Amino acid sequence: MSYHFDPGKLGPHEVEIAISHCGICHSDLHLISNDWGISQYPFIPGHEIVGKVAAVGEAVSALAVGQRVGLGWQSNSCGECEWCTRGMENLCAAAESTCVHRNGGYADRVRANSRFVIPIPKALESEHAAPLLCAGITVYNPLRNHGVNPSSRVGIIGIGGLGHLAIQFANVFGAEVTAFSTSATKEEEAHSLGAHHFVNSRESKSLKEVAGTLDLIVSTVNADQDWGVYIQALRPTGTLCFVGVPPSPVAVHAFPIVSGLRSISGSPIGSPSRLREMLDVAARHGVKAQTESFPMAKANEAIEKVKKNKVRYRAVLTN
Ligand code: NAP
Ligand code: ZN
Repeated sequence: MSYHFDPGKLGPHEVEIAISHCGICHSDLHLISNDWGISQYPFIPGHEIVGKVAAVGEAVSALAVGQRVGLGWQSNSCGECEWCTRGMENLCAAAESTCVHRNGGYADRVRANSRFVIPIPKALESEHAAPLLCAGITVYNPLRNHGVNPSSRVGIIGIGGLGHLAIQFANVFGAEVTAFSTSATKEEEAHSLGAHHFVNSRESKSLKEVAGTLDLIVSTVNADQDWGVYIQALRPTGTLCFVGVPPSPVAVHAFPIVSGLRSISGSPIGSPSRLREMLDVAARHGVKAQTESFPMAKANEAIEKVKKNKVRYRAVLTN
C-alpha cells in the first residue's frame, strides 16, 4: 500500500527533489517508535536524501532543475537569528527537521528550503553520498570543532552508520583512531576503514587498558554504557562528545573530570556551510559510506535489519 499526499504549491524559497536514494539513519527508527515524543502519524521517515532538483520556487536562483543535490536532517531555519546569521543554522530555535512534522525521504519527492539543499560533488556516487548528509556531517562536525589533527588520539564508540564514517574522517584528519565496538566481527573492517586500534567494549579488561590515552571520544551509540570508563580513557583536557543519545541520564563521577580538566559535550548535525565542506573533504579524500541497498518498497525489511544491528554499515533505499 502506498501513501499519497498533496504537498500544495511550491513556496518561493523551496526546492522539490526527485529522490533517487535515501539512507536509513537510526534516528528514523527512533521517530518510527516515537522514542522522542515528537513524531506525528502518518509519518514518512528519511533524512539522508540524494536526488535531482525537480522544481524550484520563484525566488531560488542558486539551484537548477536536473542538478544532483542532497538534503539532510534539517530543511529550514528562521534565517535571521543570531545562530543563523553566524552560519550555525543547526542551532536555530526555529529549525525544521526534514521528517519531523514534514514529509521525509522514504518517498518519491521531498521539499526543503533551498539553503539546505546541497549540491553533491561529482566524485561521490549517490548511494555512497546519501549517508553523508546526516551520519557524515554529525561525526565530521565534532571532529572539526574539537580541532582534531595529526597529533590527536581519537576514540569512536559504535561502528554503525555514524561510527564507520567517524573512523574514516578521524583518519583523514590524521588522528590515531581507536574503535570501540560490541561486535568482535567488525574488527578487520574497522582497520580497513582506518582504525589503528580496536577495543571490544564488552570486555571490561580491554576498556581499562586504554585508560588515559585519548583526546576526544565520540559516542555514536544509543544505549547506556559505563560512561565512567570512557571518562577514564581520556587524557587530561580530553572530551567525551555524545552524538548518539543514550536513554538514561549520563551518570559519572566529577573527580576525574575536575582533576584532568576533562569535559563532556554533545553535538547536533551541522550547518549548510559545514555540509558543503564535509562533502568536499569526502570527495577529495575518498570518504564514503559502505552501504547495502534496498528498493524503496522494501523499506520495512531494511529497517528490521538495522534494528538487529546487521547492516554493514548503512542501509540505503533506492527509487
Ligand atoms: P546504527 O547504524 O544502528 O549504529 C549504532 C551502533 O551502536 C551499532 O552498529 C553498534 O555498534 C552500537 N550499538 C548498538 N546497540 C548497542 C548497545 N546496546 N551497546 C553498545 N553499542 C551498541 O545507528 P546510527 O544511525 O549510527 O545512529 C546512532 C545514534 O546517533 C542514534 O541514536 C541516532 O539517533 C543518533 N544520531 C544523532 C545525530 C545528531 O545530530 N547528534 C544525528 C544522527 C544520528 P557496534 O556493533 O560496533 O557495537
Ligand atoms: Zn540521521
